[in-house]
Amino acid sequence: MDFDHDARTRELLGPLEAFMDEHIYPNEDRFFAESMELGPWAVWPVVEELKPLARAAGLWNLFLPDATHGAGLTNVQYAPLCEVMGRSHLAPEVFNCNAPDTGNMEVLARYGTPEQQQRWLTPLLDGEIRSAFAMTEPAVASSDATNIECSIRRDGDEYVIDGHKWYTTNATHPRCEIFIVMGKSDPDNPDRYRQQSMILVPRDTTGVEVLRPIPVFNFHGMPDRASEVRFTEVRVPAGNMLLGEGRGFEIAQGRLGPGRIHHCMRLIGLAERALEMMCRRTQSRVAFGRPIAEQGVTLERVAEARIAIDQCRLLTLKAAHMMDTVGAKEARREIAMIKIAAPNMACQVVDWAMQAFGGAGVNNDYGLAAMYATARLLRLADGPDEVHRNQLGKLEMRRHASAGPLEPRSTYVATWPTAPTVPAHG
Ligand SMILES: Cc1cc2nc3c(=O)[nH]c(=O)nc-3n(C[C@H](O)[C@H](O)[C@H](O)COP(=O)(O)OP(=O)(O)OC[C@H]3O[C@@H](n4cnc5c(N)ncnc54)[C@H](O)[C@@H]3O)c2cc1C
Repeated sequence: MDFDHDARTRELLGPLEAFMDEHIYPNEDRFFAESMELGPWAVWPVVEELKPLARAAGLWNLFLPDATHGAGLTNVQYAPLCEVMGRSHLAPEVFNCNAPDTGNMEVLARYGTPEQQQRWLTPLLDGEIRSAFAMTEPAVASSDATNIECSIRRDGDEYVIDGHKWYTTNATHPRCEIFIVMGKSDPDNPDRYRQQSMILVPRDTTGVEVLRPIPVFNFHGMPDRASEVRFTEVRVPAGNMLLGEGRGFEIAQGRLGPGRIHHCMRLIGLAERALEMMCRRTQSRVAFGRPIAEQGVTLERVAEARIAIDQCRLLTLKAAHMMDTVGAKEARREIAMIKIAAPNMACQVVDWAMQAFGGAGVNNDYGLAAMYATARLLRLADGPDEVHRNQLGKLEMRRHASAGPLEPRSTYVATWPTAPTVPAHG
């Protein structure tokens, strides 16, 4: 296995890092202030100002492996670039590489009709509009997507959608113009995985109400524009159905594989930055007569963080390599592994960094609180840890199921000399 970046990645990595230095890091304070002061219902001007610069620099839509619409990079080529973007909350959207738009663009590129692509994919690829993915519902345990209750009912040339969703990221964005909604079109189908469909719902359709933004650890908008949305008798043309009735699960699988690994790539960048910050801070602060960096506990945590980040990076690259070579379905074990490992690793590393910063670790002056919120939410979003562990455990069991019960390796019994008689006490 070749661990070097290839020529295409190297060609993009230099300009990307230069862009981060020139435009992203110096604007992080402004981004944070705008997200706090303008709030989740607003466009944040700094993002819009930087997008054209990123596009002009050729750092645009790097996530999309489809060369017709995107940069045509493989997952392995994209991984180090996505990692760099993950170092800052501001970066992903500036490069048009932010969730959930990336996943929605992949769905439209893969399953959309030419008309759907022209209407929604082109402006998304141009960064002119935003999109949302509405699957999760407050009323049911949505980590099991077969529970989803939103109804999608055919009525002549239209579908009628009724449902209540939440954690619909992006819905409060003023430029969010399109929702991909998952619901049940055939609730009585005996195959629980053929009951669901996905349908395109323009946000300005009558009956779509964005009820409220939902904070993450009381951050609104950044790191996530989660929202609650109600769909009441929403009517859309029958042509808005994606791929066909009953194909919702199939699309979800296609969408979530790449989406999950992108989160992991970004988390590695986030953790890497937290570790750098921890090293720099502890070298410059003295407590009880020596730099905090020289305390055994600091060195121990720095070493553990280094190991954990590198382990996750290697596992992410392995998953990326498998997705490129044998496809997301065959790579589902690796994707599950990394989707569990990376957010937990990032939570731990950021937590150590927060501890090393003392009070400054929790007030967000250094961005650590928002970093923690990001890492922690990703133990839930795109499937909670436990669900991935369950799937991973089952896949592992299946690998060994046909081998049958395990026989004892040996029935050998050692023959010792007769035990001496132990005199009784007392
Ligand atoms: C910030 C944020 C953004 C999000 N963005 C989106 C979005 O854009 N679109 C969208 O549709 N959804 C989004 N989500 C929702 C997310 O995908 C769901 O929260 C997640 O799938 C869990 O569903 P739930 O909240 O209904 O939890 P539940 O299904 O009620 O599960 C609760 C808990 O039960 C436990 N559990 C569940 N199943 C098992 C199991 N098999 N074994 C052991 N324990 C289990 C887990 O600990 C789990 O966390 C987002 C979530 C967050 C936090």
